[in-house]
Amino acid sequence: MIIVMKPEAADHDVDHLVERLRELGLKAQVTKGEERTVVGVIGDDRLLHDQPLSVFPGVESVTPILAPWKLVSREFQKHDTVIDVNGVKIGGKKITIMAGPCAVEKLELTVGIAKEVSAAGASILRGGAYKPRTSPYSFQGLGQEGLDYLVEARKQTGMPVVSEILDARDIGHFLEKADIIQIGARNMQNFELLKEVGDYDKPVLLKRGLSATVKELLLSAEYILSRGNRNVMLCERGIRTYETLYRNTLDLTAVPALKEMSHLPVIVDPSHATGKWNLVAPMAKAAIAAGADGLLIEVHSDPEFALCDGEESIKPSRFKDLMANLKKVAEAVDREL
Ligand code: PEP
Ligand code: MN
Repeated sequence: MIIVMKPEAADHDVDHLVERLRELGLKAQVTKGEERTVVGVIGDDRLLHDQPLSVFPGVESVTPILAPWKLVSREFQKHDTVIDVNGVKIGGKKITIMAGPCAVEKLELTVGIAKEVSAAGASILRGGAYKPRTSPYSFQGLGQEGLDYLVEARKQTGMPVVSEILDARDIGHFLEKADIIQIGARNMQNFELLKEVGDYDKPVLLKRGLSATVKELLLSAEYILSRGNRNVMLCERGIRTYETLYRNTLDLTAVPALKEMSHLPVIVDPSHATGKWNLVAPMAKAAIAAGADGLLIEVHSDPEFALCDGEESIKPSRFKDLMANLKKVAEAVDREL
C-alpha cells in the first residue's frame, strides 16, 4: 500500500500514521520528497483493507497494491483450476456445455430434453427446481420434487446436473441430489449462503449479480474458497445497463479479464444475458471466442408453453445446430468441444 501525505502534513502526522501501521503489525518506509512525503507499507496490505487510513491527519491518498482477494487470484495459483464433476472436467482445454430447461417441469419433459441435449453433445444438465422469480405469482419451481426429476434424468442419461439453491436450509438436498450447486445472480452477495456452500467440496457455479462488478464477483468467490471449497466456477450472465432492448448486457470483456485475474473456470450464460432466443447463438459463439471455459444454455422442447423463460429458450434442433457451429469456433481458438 502506498500512502501519499498532503504537502502541509507535519512530521507528527507522519509519525502518528507510522505508529498506527506498527500497531497493525506492518512496517512503514517513509520517503521524504521535495514536496510530499510518501509512506510505503511493507507486508500484506490486505490487513489494512478495513482500516480507514485516509481519515488520518495529513493523509492525501491511500492506494492498495494487493487485491483484497487472495485464494481466487492468479498470483496465488498460476495454473487453471480444473473441476472434476463425475468425470466431466470443467476448466481444461475442452469446453463444457451445460444445457436444459430454465425450470424443471414435468418428469417426462425433463428427461426428454436431457436426452436431446446429451445427444447433441452437452455434458451437464441444467434445471431449476427452486426458482428465484421476480413476481411472487410466477411459477416458483417444483422444489424437492424437481431435484428428484433431475436425479432421474441423470440416471437415464448419465449427465451430472446443476441446479440453483435459494435457501441454505436446503443444503442437504443439494449435497445429495445435485452435482453442481448454482448460486444465482440474485444471491451472489448472500454471504451466509456463500459460507454455507463453502463448507463442502461440492462444485459451485457462482453467477455474477445483476449489478455486480467483476471485483465483487471475485470477492464473493473468495468467500467460498476461504471456507475450504476450491471447486468454484464463475459465471457471466449479463449485467443491468441502460439498454432495454434485451434482458441484460452480456459483459464479454469480463471473460478475458476474469481469466487473467483468476485461475477459476469462467462460464457464460448467453440465455439470461440476452433474454431472447434468437440472440443466444451469436453470443454463445462470441463467448467461446472470448475464452469462456463453458456455456450455460436454456433449451426447451416447447418454449411456447415453458413455465419459465420460454422467450430465451432454444429448441433442441437449434441447440444441435448451434453445437456444430460452436465446434468450429472452439477449434479457431485452440479449444475442443
Ligand atoms: C438461472 O440460471 O436459472 C437463473 C435464474 O439465472 P440468473 O441467476 O443468472 O438470473
Ligand atoms: Mn431462466
